[in-house]
Amino acid sequence: MNDGKSKILIVDDISANVDVLRAILERKGYQICMAPSGEIALKILPEIEPDLVLLGVTMPEMDGFEVCQKMKENPDLADIPVIFVTGKVATEDIVRGFNVGGSDYVSKPFQYEEILARVSSQIKIRELIQEKEALIKELDSLSRIDPLTKLSNRRDVKEILSYEQSRFERYGKGLTIGLGDIDFFKKINDQYGHDAGDYVLKEVAVILKKNIRKVDSVARWGGEEFLIVLPDTTLNGAAKVIEKIRSSIESFNFEFNQEKIKVTMSFGVACHANECNQMESIIKLADDLLYKAKEQGRNRVITM
Ligand code: GH3
Ligand code: MG
Ligand code: MG
Repeated sequence: MNDGKSKILIVDDISANVDVLRAILERKGYQICMAPSGEIALKILPEIEPDLVLLGVTMPEMDGFEVCQKMKENPDLADIPVIFVTGKVATEDIVRGFNVGGSDYVSKPFQYEEILARVSSQIKIRELIQEKEALIKELDSLSRIDPLTKLSNRRDVKEILSYEQSRFERYGKGLTIGLGDIDFFKKINDQYGHDAGDYVLKEVAVILKKNIRKVDSVARWGGEEFLIVLPDTTLNGAAKVIEKIRSSIESFNFEFNQEKIKVTMSFGVACHANECNQMESIIKLADDLLYKAKEQGRNRVITM
């Protein structure tokens, strides 16, 4: 039932009440912490991070309802389930307990089995919620990653660009982007096979990542197109970085199934400027320059 690791905080000013609960729960392997008042409970909660709080209602200074309400108002504590354990048995008290955010309400006198069942049920629910949240987080991160290259995908980099655009509008901090496209990639697929093409895409992604700073981003923008985002970088500085990438790709020894594959890449580089102050216009300009690089013979970087 309990893996022995769940931590429960018992809050009550009457130590006899606490002792009874503690004895039952410890026997089942729960880890128990105690607080003799609501104030102390609120103070120690962020530190001990229990999986559940058993909360008395009638306490001097701050009653259990108020403690629960304060917990639910604090985003760091709001997810911890609260079970009220109290001699107050009027319907209006029970209803109030739920209204202030309590998960369950146990009236005294109680049977041990009932307390254990309710505790176990709340801990299980919390575990399920945590699993669900972790899954959502993982799905969100997967939905931003290109499965082949493990780079950011278009959706993810668009969010980065929108953040950078607001930074530009607020602080005037412009950025430079490089749009790169592998030259004659269709020929690589045709000549060596689709798997070889995939291998090239993966290696290119590694080279791109290796050549940028932590604050920069690189994404798979489309099939064999990559977008490099360089914040707080002058056009000259960015052009140097992109040229280094271009030459690293040209000189890298791509080899798939014992076959050497010649790979080069063309780039267009553009930055925030007076007449080019929207992200769409920077990308469009970089795309035009990339097209120019292709026209002029490929394997080159063309800067605005
Ligand atoms: P250019 O130098 O003008 O860019 O010519 P290109 O052949 O690189 O350009 P084109 O747009 O004609 O071909 C791109 C090819 O990329 C076509 C498409 O099948 C291939 N491609 C897109 N995504 C993938 C992928 O994930 N894996 C592989 N192996 N190929 C892909
Ligand atoms: Mg291409
Ligand atoms: Mg292309």
